[in-house]
Amino acid sequence: MNRNKKQSSSRFNLMDNQDNITESMINHGSGNTSPVNKNKSRTLRSLMSRKKGKIISIVTIILLLLIAFVFLGKRASNKKDMVVPETKTSSNGVSTMTPKPSISSLEDLDSNLSTQQDDGKISIKNTPGNELLENVYKTVKSNINDLNIKKGELLTPLLITRPVGSEGHKKTIDFISKKLKEFGFSVSLDSFLEKTPLGMKSFTNIIGIKNPKAKKRVVLAAHFDSKVFNTGDFIGAIDSAVPVAILLSICKNLGKMINGEDKTLQVIFFDGEEAFVDWTETDSLYGSRHLAAKWSDGLDEITAKAAPNLSTNELSLMEVFVLLDLIGTSDVIIPPLQTSTLYLFYQLSEIESRLYKLEYITKKHLNPARFVSGQIDDDHRPFAKKNIPVLHLISSPFPKVWHTLGDNAENLDQESINSFNVLMSTFVAAYLDLKV
Ligand SMILES: [Zn+2]
Repeated sequence: MNRNKKQSSSRFNLMDNQDNITESMINHGSGNTSPVNKNKSRTLRSLMSRKKGKIISIVTIILLLLIAFVFLGKRASNKKDMVVPETKTSSNGVSTMTPKPSISSLEDLDSNLSTQQDDGKISIKNTPGNELLENVYKTVKSNINDLNIKKGELLTPLLITRPVGSEGHKKTIDFISKKLKEFGFSVSLDSFLEKTPLGMKSFTNIIGIKNPKAKKRVVLAAHFDSKVFNTGDFIGAIDSAVPVAILLSICKNLGKMINGEDKTLQVIFFDGEEAFVDWTETDSLYGSRHLAAKWSDGLDEITAKAAPNLSTNELSLMEVFVLLDLIGTSDVIIPPLQTSTLYLFYQLSEIESRLYKLEYITKKHLNPARFVSGQIDDDHRPFAKKNIPVLHLISSPFPKVWHTLGDNAENLDQESINSFNVLMSTFVAAYLDLKV
């Protein structure tokens, strides 16, 4: 602003000087001042002064337009480049001010992606061919009814109230464990007691793994408990019955093909993600906090049995931790949330675009162009704190039904669920380089 003001006043000064010069030139140039000449000179002067007035007003208008143009242009370009920081509510109701974005423009995001690509660390090493895309699609399609909202054998049993300690909770643990075993996965239960604002509660994380001898794991996770609601039956269809069902579907459809000695799939179904009263550091994420602490100390019992000579902890075997949450309605938009897995997110988004073009999916949910900085608090936090690369796939903004009684089967979107299932199945097949 100051600079503009200064610039404009100096330009006015320049014009004034020029006018003076013109006037003095006329006076000096007139030589002898006869009355006629005087009159002529007066007329000329009044003409000049009128002209001068006009020039000044035209220049003023031009200048004002110029200033407005520069100002508006600057604002418009800011809007384009800037990733607007969001004030977000955590997935469990706690408002968190998002810190300043670490990546402030799409150009930064691009350069960050290429750096990660060069590292070659967390990525799908071989870009999947169309054949893999087609075969995964066909496999998922052959069991398409599993995730049917009304009668899906892997989804409807989960669409019940299942807060910690309830009958539905117990049924859900049994259901998930049974299905995992049925799909050829080794299952371990991490059961523990912990104090909550509603007294001592018993929690159980469920872990499934195929070929536990494998030294590296891609981990898919979701929470299976539902939030305690006093005003009615809260189902938590997107939070997180659908993500759990999608994980089970992946285990069913791809389980037989996962035999690699190098990398394998580990699935974690967390208990006690929801707060019992208000979301705080201690009243939330009971299961993930417990498991991250336990696994930083040693191996999971299944791994220990399969590979007794492995002298490391379970966490160090995780290559990437993918968390699914708030998925299943039509208003799901998933932005990249972590810089450590930006490249992987970008690859996933590429796969989504290809699946969409090939008409294997009808809905797209990822938005790679909108990096959202800051964290949405969720089950990944205890693992991210232990430096595990996290890919958090959660809708931001949250779907409209989030933490309302409307988060039920009625508001789910079949096409979104099917599309996400095909996408995540393709992701796992590509990441593990499966022969589908
Ligand atoms: Zn929730």
